[in-house]
Amino acid sequence: MHPFTYTKAADTREALDAGRRGGRYIAGGTTLVDLMRETVERPASLIDISALPLSDTTVTKGGGLRIGALVRMSEAAAHPTVRALYPVISQALELSASAQLRNMATIGGNIMQRTRCTYFRDVTADCNKREPGSGCAALHGYNRGHAIFGTSDSCVATHPSDLAVALAALEATIHLLGPDGERSVPFSDFLLQPGSTPHREQAVLPGELITGVEIPAHPRPLTSGYLKVRDRQSYEFALTSAAVALRIGGGVIREAKVAVGGVGTVPWKLPAVERRLIGERPSHRLWAEAAEQATDGARPLKYNGFKVELLKRTVERQLRTLGGIT
Ligand code: SF4
Repeated sequence: MHPFTYTKAADTREALDAGRRGGRYIAGGTTLVDLMRETVERPASLIDISALPLSDTTVTKGGGLRIGALVRMSEAAAHPTVRALYPVISQALELSASAQLRNMATIGGNIMQRTRCTYFRDVTADCNKREPGSGCAALHGYNRGHAIFGTSDSCVATHPSDLAVALAALEATIHLLGPDGERSVPFSDFLLQPGSTPHREQAVLPGELITGVEIPAHPRPLTSGYLKVRDRQSYEFALTSAAVALRIGGGVIREAKVAVGGVGTVPWKLPAVERRLIGERPSHRLWAEAAEQATDGARPLKYNGFKVELLKRTVERQLRTLGGIT
């Protein structure tokens, strides 16, 4: 591990001042400390923001839900309002990591976590994300767990967060605070596809920190859930996953929100699937036809072609589970 300084910010002003001077924010530390041990990350200065007042979960005036950046994953998953309004969020969180990690890791940190690409974590391998311009060992290496959407010649790594898939489906907003004040970014613009700059992963400006996540009010009733497919049933990242929310009224699907994980360089929204569902009556045939469109535009690599079929089945099964007619 490389030498670094550690400061605990007493308040937001202190945190932002230290952030302006180039310090890295840390709260739960479940990703960053691991990466520092492996010398993948080498920050000169850490600013512990865990004392900041960002640990509330509240219903907004408009009927949406705001989850503070420092709420622990386990707290958010168990929160009665989160469970009642957006089970897809609770389920995505409960299917993430281990219980011990969920007790430490925060909502903000979960969104900011870095890829689990094994080459990224191997400092002897070429990796444009870790070392811009060095190449991508995964492109022609063992890429079974890598992305089929949003890839570039520079990087094909998936985004690892389950929570992020649920937030993409629900069209959440990220709230940020920085040296120039507060701002909000739609979640669809927050996580960046790699393009030619895979080391740029989020739309965060220097010195900014996440203050919270807001899920807009969705007309009710809304049923939602998260399905995660992985090599083993615990403590494993998704091969494929599906976050789905449906509003069915008068026997017809009025609203459909669908995003998938384990397959994109960022959580991947499926507007074609959503369009296919809206205005239709639930049926076996509809679920299958909609799921067939889940892989439009997919570009599998040498070892991950199986994800194309697996993703269709994941989406179809989750639609059946939520929409009925099983
Ligand atoms: Fe690095 Fe991305 Fe290539 Fe993995 S896929 S080695 S993270 S550049």
